[in-house]
Amino acid sequence: MFENLSDRLTDVFNRLGSKGRLTESDVDAGLREVRLALLEADVNFKVVKDFVARVREQAIGEEVTKSLTPGQQVIKIVHDELVHLLGDANVPINESKNREQPTIVMLVGLQGAGKTTMAAKLALYMRKKGKTPLLVAADIYRPAAIKQLETLGKQLNIPVFSEGTEVAPPDIAEHALRQARINGNNFVIVDTAGRLQIDERLMGELQQVVERIGPTEIMLVVDAMIGQESVKVAEAFHAKVPLTGLIMTKIDGDARGGAALSMREVTGVPIKFLGTGEKTDAIEPFHPDRLAQRILG
Ligand code: GDP
Repeated sequence: MFENLSDRLTDVFNRLGSKGRLTESDVDAGLREVRLALLEADVNFKVVKDFVARVREQAIGEEVTKSLTPGQQVIKIVHDELVHLLGDANVPINESKNREQPTIVMLVGLQGAGKTTMAAKLALYMRKKGKTPLLVAADIYRPAAIKQLETLGKQLNIPVFSEGTEVAPPDIAEHALRQARINGNNFVIVDTAGRLQIDERLMGELQQVVERIGPTEIMLVVDAMIGQESVKVAEAFHAKVPLTGLIMTKIDGDARGGAALSMREVTGVPIKFLGTGEKTDAIEPFHPDRLAQRILG
């Protein structure tokens, strides 16, 4: 993703030439293209506006460092602002401070976003870090989701807690937590139900699960392919359950990816992981600097 944006910016800044000091018209010519490139990459309009204003403020009148061309100088400012927009540094997963209490990660999101897949990826990732994960199948409205999680658990040799489709999700979550304490699982991942759209009843149920088990992390899983829509989805979920992290999946696809920039800025919630493919090891902790590098090429 971001290929268009990266090429575009490089092209624009190469055209800026090499004068000693950045003039207002140099910067504005460059920023016009930056604005277009970001809009085309599907970044939210207001986010683009604020971003361009911040870059402009820093770039105009800037003394060009001897080792850089003016174009490189603007690219550096754009890069640093992108890193800032994406949250500056990697924010690690919150873990339970109490040794007696497992870390509880709840995954929420729309159907098809990649929650169930991400639950398994996260379990594998945390096991590699020495945790003893338990996967919890609380998506009772899609029997296939329970099977899918059980299959993944079997493949990875990670236990899956399920109680079929008849027990209410808050009860399942509570029972799973009890099981985790008995079996000594110190990292519990709860896969919740998704809907095609945001739905009041589902939100009420998520709130009940939150109240019942008090998760350490509530992460929203978002499909990068949905573009601008992701901002609305993130805002709607965040208004109902206090999100502590965002996960973008399917960034291996051809999504324009501006969603990542917008969601972080609009919600203030950090992006913590990326899903980079269908396999269970296709997960990366999110590093703002790496993504900014990738955007600029
Ligand atoms: P859920 O409804 O949110 O639980 O979504 P699933 O985990 O069932 O995923 C929906 C589809 O997206 C499945 O076909 C997954 O294989 C696929 N998928 C999930 N994550 C990724 C990813 O990072 N990259 C790609 N290419 N496909 C993914």
